[in-house]
Amino acid sequence: MVIFKNINDIKKYISLKKAEGCNVGFVPTMGALHAGHISLIEKSKQENTLVVCSIFVNPTQFNDKKDLEKYPVSTEADIELLLTAGCDVLFLPAVSEIYPDGEGHFKTYDFGYLDSILEGAQRPGHFRGVGQVVARLLEIVEPSSLYLGQKDYQQCMVLKKLVEMMELKLNVIICPTMREADGLAMSSRNRRLTESQRVISAVIYQCLVSIQSKQQTDRFAIVKKECEDLLAAKGLATEYVALADARDLTLLGDYQTDAPMVALIAARIGEIRLIDNILL
Ligand code: AMP
Repeated sequence: MVIFKNINDIKKYISLKKAEGCNVGFVPTMGALHAGHISLIEKSKQENTLVVCSIFVNPTQFNDKKDLEKYPVSTEADIELLLTAGCDVLFLPAVSEIYPDGEGHFKTYDFGYLDSILEGAQRPGHFRGVGQVVARLLEIVEPSSLYLGQKDYQQCMVLKKLVEMMELKLNVIICPTMREADGLAMSSRNRRLTESQRVISAVIYQCLVSIQSKQQTDRFAIVKKECEDLLAAKGLATEYVALADARDLTLLGDYQTDAPMVALIAARIGEIRLIDNILL
């Protein structure tokens, strides 16, 4: 695996590889890698001849600066995992490399409705930052396919819209959420959970499964209330329990029989904010 910190160097290397006939699959991450990230690398490896991963903790997408300060960093362990997974290129830029003239100096995109609900509403400016950094990374790496995790469902929709707005010829591949044995979605933030918080956190997935399994029998409002009560009983602070059209994230008041749906939950346990979703 070749590691680059500098934009010009990685660009030169990738264009050389492309001239040799490689097609490029790209997996952007913020590091603290786990099996969820590695599943994206593996999928990209199956479908491309050059797999590029980036690790960059992007300051512009953290609406909560404390979250940024405490974001886990484990670069050496990440490199080991990427080597084992057979990743070809790691891009590991400094903040000054990505934002040489300060964070305000790169183009941002307006995601409209998608930025006004759920994560967009709870985390003002978050998707602006995500769009800004991913646009920048796509311009540097110029991949033919981009690999994203369903775990961040709304982010996948935002980034599909970004690819449209940038008019890029790029496949966006959404990979399934990797989970711990008890169902908790793998996340870099899970590392910050205490042992007891870690055990309790599985309740988020239990709620999602119950929303899924009750779609034929119950009204969503009832199931939502049950979930909110259960989350509260376990000591989690719910930000949202929502049902949406899986195609465009239109929020739904009740289950639909003729539309693909997604249920989404965001909740805090102590200081740590967890999100998850399930397709119905
Ligand atoms: P992050 O490092 O959290 O920014 O995530 C980088 C990429 O990995 C994003 O596309 C995430 O959606 C994806 N990802 C994060 N957690 C998981 C997971 N548990 N399963 C699959 N993909 C994931």
